[in-house]
Amino acid sequence: MEIKESSYKGVNFCLRCSGRMNLVKDRENKLRSRCSKCGWNYYKNAVPAVACLVINEAKEILIIKRLVEPKPGFWALPSGYIEINQSPEEAAVDELQEETGIVGEVKEFLGYYDGTSPIYEKVLSLGFWLDIKGGHLEAGDDAGAAKFVPFSRLPKLAFDAHTFFVDKIRRKL
Ligand SMILES: [Zn+2]
Repeated sequence: MEIKESSYKGVNFCLRCSGRMNLVKDRENKLRSRCSKCGWNYYKNAVPAVACLVINEAKEILIIKRLVEPKPGFWALPSGYIEINQSPEEAAVDELQEETGIVGEVKEFLGYYDGTSPIYEKVLSLGFWLDIKGGHLEAGDDAGAAKFVPFSRLPKLAFDAHTFFVDKIRRKL
């Protein structure tokens, strides 16, 4: 599928030299946003994120209540965008601790979900199953609440990616 012009909406100035960005076709005939002054390309990619799946001894799953956009007020898995200074595994461990107080260790990579986002157009979510290594359950600044629930009482989650990962892990338990 072709890259749409709308994917570059709002990309007006170069992040390197502040020059005007133009829409051009590259050598492979792909639509790019390129700086008219320095030639720098703005590549529009899916934003990488992690989702954390944590199961307790009672076979319940850990969820948090979101306070921030997108989807504030919805329940979700502990999750977040991967920062430039983190590996995917580090992002999962850090997000889990920040949002729930639980110190985790990655046990298994559960796969990816190629999803859409109202903010970034596309988000590539990586699902990680983590073992509990320490800490204690307490909702962090980004979460209104954090709790373990049985799969039978799981509320509708904020993101399709999270529902996808929950289905995956459920089949492994
Ligand atoms: Zn430039």
